[in-house]
Amino acid sequence: MTKLAKSFVETLAFLSIVLCGAATCVEAAEETCVLQQERWSLTIQKTNDGARFLKGRFGDIDVIEGDIFSLALCRLSNKTVVLSSGSGWGEVELERDGDRVKMRFSNPLNYGGIFVEVEGVPDETGITWSVAVINCNLDSSVVEATYPFPAVAGSTLNLFVPDRSGRAILDAGKNGYRAFYSYPDHVASMQYFAYWGEKSGLYLGVHDPDAYMKTFDVAVERGEGRIRAAFPAIDVGARKNSFRLAGETRWQAFDGDWYDATAIYKEFVLNRAKWLPVKGRPDTPAQFKEIAFWICDYIPNSEKQLDARPMTLATVSEKFGKDYWVDAAVELKKRLDAPVGYQVYNWHEIPFNINYPHFLPARQEFLDGLSKLKDAGIYVFPYINAVSWEMDDADEGYAENFADVGIHGAALNADGEPRCYVYPQIKASGEKTRLAPICPGFTRWREIVEEVARGIEKVAPVDGIYFDQISAVAPVPCRSREHGHLPGGGSYWSDGYRQMMKKITADRPENSFYYSESNAEAYADAFDGFLTWIWTKGDLVPAFPAIYSGYFQTLGRYTDGATRDNDVYFRYHLAEALTYGQQLGWINACVVYNDARMTFLKKVVDARRELTNFFNEGTLLRPPVVESELEPTTSSGITMRPIVSGAWKSADGSETVVIVVNISEKEADATIRLFPEEYGVECPASLERRLAPLEVIVLKYHSHLSE
Ligand SMILES: [Zn+2]
Repeated sequence: MTKLAKSFVETLAFLSIVLCGAATCVEAAEETCVLQQERWSLTIQKTNDGARFLKGRFGDIDVIEGDIFSLALCRLSNKTVVLSSGSGWGEVELERDGDRVKMRFSNPLNYGGIFVEVEGVPDETGITWSVAVINCNLDSSVVEATYPFPAVAGSTLNLFVPDRSGRAILDAGKNGYRAFYSYPDHVASMQYFAYWGEKSGLYLGVHDPDAYMKTFDVAVERGEGRIRAAFPAIDVGARKNSFRLAGETRWQAFDGDWYDATAIYKEFVLNRAKWLPVKGRPDTPAQFKEIAFWICDYIPNSEKQLDARPMTLATVSEKFGKDYWVDAAVELKKRLDAPVGYQVYNWHEIPFNINYPHFLPARQEFLDGLSKLKDAGIYVFPYINAVSWEMDDADEGYAENFADVGIHGAALNADGEPRCYVYPQIKASGEKTRLAPICPGFTRWREIVEEVARGIEKVAPVDGIYFDQISAVAPVPCRSREHGHLPGGGSYWSDGYRQMMKKITADRPENSFYYSESNAEAYADAFDGFLTWIWTKGDLVPAFPAIYSGYFQTLGRYTDGATRDNDVYFRYHLAEALTYGQQLGWINACVVYNDARMTFLKKVVDARRELTNFFNEGTLLRPPVVESELEPTTSSGITMRPIVSGAWKSADGSETVVIVVNISEKEADATIRLFPEEYGVECPASLERRLAPLEVIVLKYHSHLSE
């Protein structure tokens, strides 16, 4: 029995006291407790066999009836049942202990020996919840438990989700919003949500400083919102598995919108998150913080590489000839006259997505081209995948292969089989390639990735390496008992990959830049930068940069592939990336052959260079609100504002910069609303500007003198 379970069992002779009394409780009935503060209220209702949130209010948002938690249990015979807080419990206790609200749910029908403890600590602005699950049942294993998240309603229900850079879904209550997130991964970068109405709202965050894996199932429709925040059980499959849900759940009333909710999560991150590196990143060489633009391109396929090229990059290199990938890049660097990074694909002899992790040897074309790129002053970063092993590499005769070795590190699904992702690339056998994510608990994998990195650095004077997938792939609640972690939930996935990278980074050559895919926050201290290529959704807001700017670089947005010919999309994402403080681009070098695009690109790259210190050392401010006669454009699946704007404050607070980009080919009269009190400088509250087509303007305001 765990210590936690033992202490609970010892106190099972618990007084059944209906909560109430004390300062925050203004109304007491036998079956309900009302917690009330000036800014919020919450009623909990207890019945004979359960308890629920009954109603409440946080700012403009109503809390409506809903469960406090749910619990999934598995008989060792494998039948899974789901219990909710609302019914089916043998005993429920609800009491006040000093400032705290305590609930204990005991002995559900047919599952004696299962207990859930929920504790809430109220304060002026909200309430902080913690949950423990105690399993003393000999026949059952807990599979999952949920954090206390309320069901809500509001006449206007706006929603913030921690999706990519963050997304503000306006009037989600009317328009509807559904999403399922695995945290921490390429989409769910952070662990907080918010609802707000006209003026105020409810912040909902899981303040878990260790970034344990979790899932969030979001359903907002017909004026109501529900988020199921689930914690995969630790030591799942074992009887009597007891655990605390990692971190606390914070409910907090706030004034404002997503930006104000973000400030609450930022405070948690800066004070408690274990993944936060030192601001300013002294360990990242200075020249890489200055990169203004990224190329992403690939060397044309060799015979050995078959047709298995990276589909998303296809059609460019072949179109322009074999030296395109070098010549166009050198020309582009010359035209931009700015620091340029280059992510190179197909530098290895193996085909893309096939025969991983056997990346070496490098192709001679790469080594020859690399020296020309370096002579031109371009920083070069080869691609490797640092998570996946190709499952059929034994076909090609590799002595150390997945069937013999990799299988022992494969992350295992609930059925005990390796997780497997099928990709479109075709192997010599005619079959599609299958990649298995490897659990970082597998020591040999960590060695292999290090050997690959050291091997590349030995044969090629690269400026760093792109480690694909690490900060993107959803952690697998791995069922193996041979990887040095307990099966199921935990923080071992991000902890393991962070440790792997810290070891590899410790021995890297001087003047190297390491980065990974997407921007799961849990890896913040493990990389110099993150490839934010999928920050191309609609409704994005710069929540992630508002928290993390200065702690690492965010680089690139993907505007090639299916959106390659959409000029508005190209300009919109460059403009938005500029205002988010990202390093720009991550696009094919052939942009240099398009004069119209180059004219605009040069303007945003120059602005990025001018503002580099703001992005590296300063703070992102509440974005200005722009109105004009121009209509938004809807294409390639998103709605794009014609005028994009952002604001940043310098590190010492003496200067604020406002960026305004007209991505339209039309002139426009714009009214730009600024926030002088928050910006801390003498700027107007509203600006009227006539903007030329495709104009990029940068306005600087000082704390005592305006421009
Ligand atoms: Zn594992």
